[in-house]
Amino acid sequence: MIHNYGPHIFHTNSERVFNYLSRFTEWRPYEHRVRGVVDGRIYPFPINRDTLNQLYGLDLDEAGAAAWFERVREPREPVRTSEDVVLNSVGRDLYEKFFLNYTRKQWGLEPSQLKAGVAARIPVRTNTDDRYFTDTFQAMPLHGYTRMFEEMLDHPNITVRLGADFDSVRDSFSTGQLIFTGPIAAYFKHCYGPLPYRSLRFEHDHLAGTEQFQPVGTVNYPNDHDFTRITEFKHLTGQFHSGTSIVREYPQAEGEPYYPIPRDENEALFKRYEALAEKETNVTFVGRLAQYRYYNMDQVVAAALKAAEKLLAS
Ligand SMILES: Cc1cc2nc3c(=O)[nH]c(=O)nc-3n(C[C@H](O)[C@H](O)[C@H](O)COP(=O)(O)OP(=O)(O)OC[C@H]3O[C@@H](n4cnc5c(N)ncnc54)[C@H](O)[C@@H]3O)c2cc1C
Repeated sequence: MIHNYGPHIFHTNSERVFNYLSRFTEWRPYEHRVRGVVDGRIYPFPINRDTLNQLYGLDLDEAGAAAWFERVREPREPVRTSEDVVLNSVGRDLYEKFFLNYTRKQWGLEPSQLKAGVAARIPVRTNTDDRYFTDTFQAMPLHGYTRMFEEMLDHPNITVRLGADFDSVRDSFSTGQLIFTGPIAAYFKHCYGPLPYRSLRFEHDHLAGTEQFQPVGTVNYPNDHDFTRITEFKHLTGQFHSGTSIVREYPQAEGEPYYPIPRDENEALFKRYEALAEKETNVTFVGRLAQYRYYNMDQVVAAALKAAEKLLAS
């Protein structure tokens, strides 16, 4: 099993979301771990105490790590951009080693051009917890996401039409409620201009005869190569095989819209489209592209449940 559209790790603190999805899948407990390669050596990421000790040849305990961060951090007030967030918490050297070039590759922008929320997603720890997420529920659909969605769509009232651009079928939805989950600007024919998204090119590889390629699910390459990271799917799926499948991610401007780009000017443009959306009766806009939010899967499920509740109530 691989993830065609890049690694997707399910994690949530919402029991409601977890219970809802549990109607369509069994789970395999999985806690994601990530490493970062800096100057040819591999370190725990997000940055924790072990990262510091290994990188700088130290032997800090928890209080020592906290004091170390306190000494190297560059206090910023207010914290507006992603650069502010990282310098404010870990200082310049760790910023340059782990964040600066990764952000440039991932977004094609300087961290100072991105809103604080992007970097604020990544914690910094004084303990040695090397899990990427600390949510209450961390698990992968046991038989994969495809099977989970097949179960979800297996209902007499649901018809799936693939390869149909919304514009080519929009007339067949002229009555009743429409729930639109594509890019909001596309719905309004880009009347205020394009709303930018970041895209990715995925380079999948199967390495026959290699039982394990890397020690954890994902390894980040902040400073080397054009790709940002390599993910080895076996860690995520728990499958056994004599070979292994990996994917390299190459960020790019063109291509399928994946990530809303969190910048003030984009949010201002989104607000103009949102004002149009509010006037559109009988259409509900939900999801990462329609709400132009950097949602994780659990957040998008929560948004969908909320929208459904509202519709049912009315
Ligand atoms: C590389 C990557 C890794 C991610 N990893 C994680 C992760 O580890 N954990 C996590 O929780 N979240 C992750 N996410 C986020 C997750 O993918 C999103 O939260 C989720 O897919 C959002 O669902 P959605 O239905 O809103 O939008 P999408 O999944 O983007 O679905 C929108 C659909 O609309 C279709 N569409 C677009 N335009 C049109 C049109 N004009 N006509 C017809 N159809 C159209 C698209 O083809 C697409 O199928 C990741 C995202 C990316 C890009």
